Amino acid sequence: MSVRSVFPQLEQLLPRVSKPIQYVGGELGAVVKDWDATTVRWALMYPDAYEVGLPNQGVQILYEVLNEQPDVLAERTYAVWPDLEALMKEHGVPQFTVDAHRPVKAFDVLGLSFATELGYTNMLSALELAGIPLDSADRGDDDPIVLAGGHASFNPEPIADFIDAAVLGDGEEAVLEITGIIREWKAEGRPGGRDELLLRLARTESIYVPRFYDVDYLPDGRIQRVVPNRPDVPFRVAKRTTMDLDAWPYPKKPLVPLAETVHERYAVEIFRGCTRGCRFCQAGMITRPVRERSITTVGQMVKEGLEFSGFREVGLLSLSSADHSEIGDMCSGLAEQYEGTNVSLSLPSTRVDAFNIDLAQELSRNGRRTGLTFAPEGGSERIRKVINKMVTEEDLIRTVVTAYSSGWRQVKLYFMCGLPTETDDDVLQIGRMAHEVIKAGRIAAGTKDIRCTVSIGGFVPKPHTPFQWAPMERPEVIDARLKMLKEEINSDRSLGRAIGYRYHDGEPSLIEGLLSRGDRRVGAVIRRVWEKGGRFDGWSEHFSYARWIESAAEVLPGFGVDLDWFTTREREQAEVLPWDHLDSGLDKDWLWQDWQDSMSEYEQDDCRWTPCFDCGVCPSMDTEIQIGPTGKKLLPLTPVNSLRVPV
Ligand code: SF4
Repeated sequence: MSVRSVFPQLEQLLPRVSKPIQYVGGELGAVVKDWDATTVRWALMYPDAYEVGLPNQGVQILYEVLNEQPDVLAERTYAVWPDLEALMKEHGVPQFTVDAHRPVKAFDVLGLSFATELGYTNMLSALELAGIPLDSADRGDDDPIVLAGGHASFNPEPIADFIDAAVLGDGEEAVLEITGIIREWKAEGRPGGRDELLLRLARTESIYVPRFYDVDYLPDGRIQRVVPNRPDVPFRVAKRTTMDLDAWPYPKKPLVPLAETVHERYAVEIFRGCTRGCRFCQAGMITRPVRERSITTVGQMVKEGLEFSGFREVGLLSLSSADHSEIGDMCSGLAEQYEGTNVSLSLPSTRVDAFNIDLAQELSRNGRRTGLTFAPEGGSERIRKVINKMVTEEDLIRTVVTAYSSGWRQVKLYFMCGLPTETDDDVLQIGRMAHEVIKAGRIAAGTKDIRCTVSIGGFVPKPHTPFQWAPMERPEVIDARLKMLKEEINSDRSLGRAIGYRYHDGEPSLIEGLLSRGDRRVGAVIRRVWEKGGRFDGWSEHFSYARWIESAAEVLPGFGVDLDWFTTREREQAEVLPWDHLDSGLDKDWLWQDWQDSMSEYEQDDCRWTPCFDCGVCPSMDTEIQIGPTGKKLLPLTPVNSLRVPV
C-alpha cells in the first residue's frame, strides 16, 4: 500500500522554524524510489541535527549500499530541532524522512547510527514523533524494527529497552544480510510476527536482540550474569568485519548538502582499524584489524567522487591516516593529479612526527594549507606511557618546529584531561610544553608571529578498551585542573598571548561515562532526562548537567546504585561487565593485562610493524591485518583538466 508524503503538512510549518532548508531534502546524491516497487524499506537516522548528520560517512555508505538493491528503498531522517518538534506535535506531523517525506513508522527498519551516546535522548524524541512505542516490548507487527549501529552499539545496554536489535561493527554487509532476512520473512507471509523476525536476526549470531537475554544482578548491584532466554540464541554476539574495502568503494555518490553542514568535502576512508594501541581509544580497539584500501581504489574514488559531487575538498580519512603503508605515494600522486586545479586535499594530521609535515606540504601544492593538528594526548611523558601514546616531548618540539620553519604559522595540539592516574602536574605540563613549542617555534620561524592552540577533551573510559575498568575523575577536579592550566599558560604573558586555549569542562564527560559503561538500569535515567526535556545532549547549549544529575538521583537508588557507582568506581577483574556478552574480538584477559601494563607505564608496540601481541581479534574473528605496499601507483597520473583553474 502506498505511503503518502507528509510534506504538504510539514511545508506549512517550515516558515516558522529556524533553518527550514534542512528539512526539505532534494540534495545531489539523494534517492527517491517508488514505494510500491520495493519490498524492504529502511529509514536511516543519524540522531543529531542535519548539519552534523548529513556528512556522516556511515549513514551515507549504507544509504547507497541499500539503494543499489533494486527491491530495497532507503531514506534518511535526522533529529528535528525543538522548535519544529513542538510544531509537529501541535499539528500531528510525524517524524519524516527528508528524501520523500514519508512517515518513519511506515518503514520496515529504523536504523540508527550512534557515533556517541549523547544522541540517545534524540532517539526517544524521534520515536515519539514517529508514533512508535518507546519500549521495544510494546511494539507491534506494524512498527519498524529499531536497530542500533555505530560505535556506541558496542554497549547498547543503556538503550536495551528502546531498541529491538543492535549490530556491532561494519555495516556494509550486515545491512544486506538483514534485508535478506526481512525479505524472506515477508515473502513467507510474516510467520510468527515480529518475534519470529527478531529470532531469525538473533540466530545469525551477529545481531544482538536484547529481549532474548536476561540480566541477573548481585545484591551489591553488580551484574551476576547475562544469559539467553531462548534456546537457539548465542551466548555471545560477534562483531562484523568487512575485510576487503576495495570491494566496497563507498560513497560513490556522496550527498551534497543544500544547507550548511559541518563538513563539505568528499571523504575517502583510506583504511579501517588501528593497532597503535592508545589505551583510551575505543575506535582503535573495536575496529581492529587494520585493513587498508588500495592506492588505486582511493585514486579512483577521489576522481569519481569529485566528478559526481563537484566538491572542491577531499579528506583522506582514517584513525591515523599517515600510517597507511602507501600514504607517501598516495599524497604525491593525488597532489600531482590535482596540481593547478582548485581541489584541496587534506588528511587529519594527528601523528606527531615530521613525516606528517612532509605529507601536508605535498598536499598543499595548490597553495592551500590546511591546519596542522598533533595529538600528544597527555602533557607529561609519564601519562603518555600510561595511555600508550609513544611520543616524547623532544619528538613534539622537533615536529612543531619543522612545521613553523616550513611556513606554518599555526598548529593545534590535542590533549585529554581526567586520564587514569593523572595528577595536577601531568596537566600543568601541557602548559609548559606549549611554552616550549612557542619559544622553539619563534626561533625556527624567525618571527614572533606564530600561534598554537591547546585543545583539551575530557577522558571517558569506554567499553572494550583497557580503560574499561578505570575510575573517572570527578568534574570538580577536572575543572580545577583546567583552571590551573589556564593560569600556567598565562603565567608568561608574552608566551601566553600566542597560545589559544580550548577545553570541555568535566560535566558532560561524566554523563558520557554513565551512558558508555552503563547497563540496562541506566535506560530509566535516559527516559527521565528525556521526559524532563533533554534533547541534543551533545550540544553545550542544550546539555543540562543538573537534569542528568537530578534524574539519576531520582531513578538509580531504586536499583541500589547511583551515578558514582557507574562513573567514578573502579571495576575489579572478576566483575561481569554489561557488554561482556558482546564480542569485539578483543580477549578480556589481554585487555586486563594491558590495563595492568598501563599502571606500570609499559608501552605496547604496533602489530603492523612488530609481531602479533595476541589481542585476540584476528584468531577470534578469523581476520588478519591487511596492509600494503601493493606496489601499485596512482595511475593514470593525468591532470584533471575539467577542474583546472584558468590562468
Ligand atoms: S590479533 Fe595480533 S595481529 Fe591481529 S590485531 Fe591483535 S595483535 Fe594485531
